[in-house]
Amino acid sequence: MTTNTCKGCTRNVIIKREEIEHILTKHKGDEQLIVSNDVYHLRLDTCKACSSLMYGTTCSYSGCLVEYRAKFTNKKCPSPNGSKW
Ligand code: SF4
Repeated sequence: MTTNTCKGCTRNVIIKREEIEHILTKHKGDEQLIVSNDVYHLRLDTCKACSSLMYGTTCSYSGCLVEYRAKFTNKKCPSPNGSKW
């Protein structure tokens, strides 16, 4: 049976857009750290089509929320088969 809870804790792994937006407000003003909206959406589209995306939110390689990780210029896709972005 599939659950939506993290294996390491009991937190629900399904995260709402408002929660992502709240986390990202900490980086408002860090324009050099944040990719353009076009790049961000290209990255997310790649993740959404990737078989390594779990729960529609989390990369199975990094364990990161892709909607968060994809925002940053210094982050890359961690796929062992070659970075997809
Ligand atoms: S970061 Fe890379 S490996 Fe992870 S879900 Fe996105 S495209 Fe797939």
